[in-house]
Amino acid sequence: MRPGPRHLLLATAAAIAAASTAVLLLLGLPLLAAHRLDAERYALVVALAALAGLGVGAVLLVRLVARPIDRLLAAAARIGGGEGSLPPLGEGELTLARAAVAFERVAGALDEERARLAAKVAELTASNRALAEARESLLRSEKLATVGRLAAGLAHEVGNPLGAVAGYAELARKRVPPGADPELGDALERIAAAAARIDRTVRDLLDFARPAVPAILPIDLAPALEAALRLARVQARMKRVEVAQALAPGLPRVLADEHQLAQVFLNLLLNAGDAMGGEGQVRIAARAEGGQVVVELADTGPGIAAEDLPRIFDPFFTTKDPGKGTGLGLAISHRILEALGGEIAACNRPGGGALFTVRLRAAP
Ligand code: ADP
Repeated sequence: MRPGPRHLLLATAAAIAAASTAVLLLLGLPLLAAHRLDAERYALVVALAALAGLGVGAVLLVRLVARPIDRLLAAAARIGGGEGSLPPLGEGELTLARAAVAFERVAGALDEERARLAAKVAELTASNRALAEARESLLRSEKLATVGRLAAGLAHEVGNPLGAVAGYAELARKRVPPGADPELGDALERIAAAAARIDRTVRDLLDFARPAVPAILPIDLAPALEAALRLARVQARMKRVEVAQALAPGLPRVLADEHQLAQVFLNLLLNAGDAMGGEGQVRIAARAEGGQVVVELADTGPGIAAEDLPRIFDPFFTTKDPGKGTGLGLAISHRILEALGGEIAACNRPGGGALFTVRLRAAP
């Protein structure tokens, strides 16, 4: 049988009783020698006192020490991996050694628990961040839908009178004989130019408000990029911009509408040209990644101000001079990618310049 805490404490109680009996004997012996005490009665009293001491000591020790230690051991064994996780004890080993092992186990279990908790917290933080991003994206989509409805109404209201203004200005210009009234001719030309600008904005608005339903098909990425580059190169702001392409070989086809995808790339290229003041480099890289094709478009411009980053995909957000930007390019691009089941995001490159990342679904 293994020596449990109870056995050890009973032994301690017995030792205490023996010691007190010895003291009683020592005190009583001189009286016995002087014949002042009856020897038999004296022995009986000492024996009874020793027995009582033993009993009371044992009960007290068991109640005050052994039971709490037992409970502590059981609790420690529960936390540290169960009674079975404690090593078997040899006959001579102290129960307290077993308690020490149990508590080491508890400390180990607590360390493991702490690590598990830290991992859980990290996981929760990541899910929280993902949730916040999803909420942000949802809010943006709602905002886009509301602005879209407003824009559609406005574009309709503005479009017809604008057509009339442009038409009458053209008519008046034709009626003024060449050179007859240069001032009037100049004013009429300005009217026509201003009307054309509003017309462009209105058409952008309509594009945004009523995006064409995309014809989603498996297409190659390269022709869409080429179409965008062809359109971009004829713009003055892209004349001194070098464009380098690095498309990974064997890129899978993407699920997209080629025309709309080209429109996204055109927006990104023209924005890069604007940001770089018409001079710099654009690098387009594409790679396959987990069922997606990731296209990155980096420029050597000044990058996007940190406070503007959360707003650049909002409709009508622009930092360009009046008349230069409508703030719709990126909002339209965002909407197109959403309809294609893709994503668009922007950040600044560590070395400077903006980086736009477009994610498209790879065709199965
Ligand atoms: P717009 O071009 O009419 O301003 P966009 O929606 O295309 O509208 O762009 C919104 C804003 O995003 C721009 O006004 C500009 O501040 C910022 N932006 C877009 N692309 C870049 C870029 N490559 N570098 C720096 N800022 C950019």
